[in-house]
Amino acid sequence: MKFNTVIIGGGLCGLTCGIALQKAGRSTAIISTGQNALHFFSGSFESLTEAPARMADLFGEAGIRLHYREGVRLMPLGTFRPAALSLEDISFFPKPKIGEKALIVSFKRYHDFFAAFLADGLEKQGVACRIEWLDLPELEQLEKSPSEMRSVQIARTMDRIWEKVVGEIRALVQDEDIIILPQVFGLKDTSVPIRIRESLPAQVVFVGTLPPSVPGIRTQMLLKRRYELLGGTYLTGDEATDAHVHEGRVHSIVTKNLDNHFLEADNFVLASGGFFSKGLKSNPFHIFEPVFGLDVEQAENRSDWYHPQFMHDQPYMAYGVKTDAALHALREGAPMQNLYAAGSVLGATRPEFGSGAGLAVRSALAVVDQILKTEAE
Ligand SMILES: Cc1cc2nc3c(=O)[nH]c(=O)nc-3n(C[C@H](O)[C@H](O)[C@H](O)COP(=O)(O)OP(=O)(O)OC[C@H]3O[C@@H](n4cnc5c(N)ncnc54)[C@H](O)[C@@H]3O)c2cc1C
Repeated sequence: MKFNTVIIGGGLCGLTCGIALQKAGRSTAIISTGQNALHFFSGSFESLTEAPARMADLFGEAGIRLHYREGVRLMPLGTFRPAALSLEDISFFPKPKIGEKALIVSFKRYHDFFAAFLADGLEKQGVACRIEWLDLPELEQLEKSPSEMRSVQIARTMDRIWEKVVGEIRALVQDEDIIILPQVFGLKDTSVPIRIRESLPAQVVFVGTLPPSVPGIRTQMLLKRRYELLGGTYLTGDEATDAHVHEGRVHSIVTKNLDNHFLEADNFVLASGGFFSKGLKSNPFHIFEPVFGLDVEQAENRSDWYHPQFMHDQPYMAYGVKTDAALHALREGAPMQNLYAAGSVLGATRPEFGSGAGLAVRSALAVVDQILKTEAE
């Protein structure tokens, strides 16, 4: 199988890269082992303020609407965090204050949203909170298996019965100026959260639950659908295990599922994520990149990898694959001619691309530009 570009990793970075290349008329394949950081996504794209125009276009065409306002967003424990460019259903506040009185509504049998902790956090900041639990018979079915009582399964039911839920919440509202709900609405798109906001008599704020994140899974599904609609090949559940490299050029990739078939391409993009996604691994002696054996920025002395205080910034989180200015990955000090690295596999080695989701999107678009520029030369 031969493509213009093979991308390893189907998270935010790999999908952004794949969509942009497909739009530019290039044939691509994405190999992805499965879970990625979007499954834990807060809905805010760190280190991005205004969406770069290309990002707004790419995401808009996928059905993902974004907004940005200077401010903070409400966290699950009732604290606030500076907000960045966010999905449409994430609320911003100009400062860490959300009003005088809050009604927090959760659902009986659902244990992945901590209403009491949220209320405690908000009360410390002078917000009077009242917690109410809705008892929905529709959730009884799901309760039969504990794995079904997770945010994504609940959202499937909620998106079906949201009008009934809104009716029950409306009956609970007294004089509150804020209604807080768990983020278990809007799995397919944001139409349900937006309609809920329009239907209730106070400002509605959706707050994160334990993973999987409903806004994150939605973002992943919409980007993947857009990629496939543009003709991209998404190899779900496969894993790049090895590569054929000759004189600084990658010729093909070996994967777990394709037996003796290799994925050939003119270009390869490593978007395999950081430690969390196994794009980077470690043993007692060094930190390494497992598919190509690329050079990884790291302290030589193992005891310098981490700070003994757990909550301190951890040095190893900044480690990543080394690249040249054009994001070619380095191996034994030399740039690989047709292998680019992007997203969180870079760690903090390329601060000019930002961090978090900002790094994933900006570096993906930079790699696409580089591929197109090299082809045109
Ligand atoms: C738990 C968590 C929550 C986060 N939340 C936020 C947030 O709310 N906002 C924010 O801005 N940033 C957040 N981040 C930072 C996050 O890293 C970026 O936002 C971004 O989503 C990373 O995208 P990525 O595509 O580079 O990597 P990933 O999302 O990690 O995706 C890499 C993908 O590559 C796959 N892969 C790895 N090795 C192989 C292989 N050999 N073959 C095939 N596939 C492979 C992995 O399975 C994974 O699917 C979070 C990070 C983590 C770890």
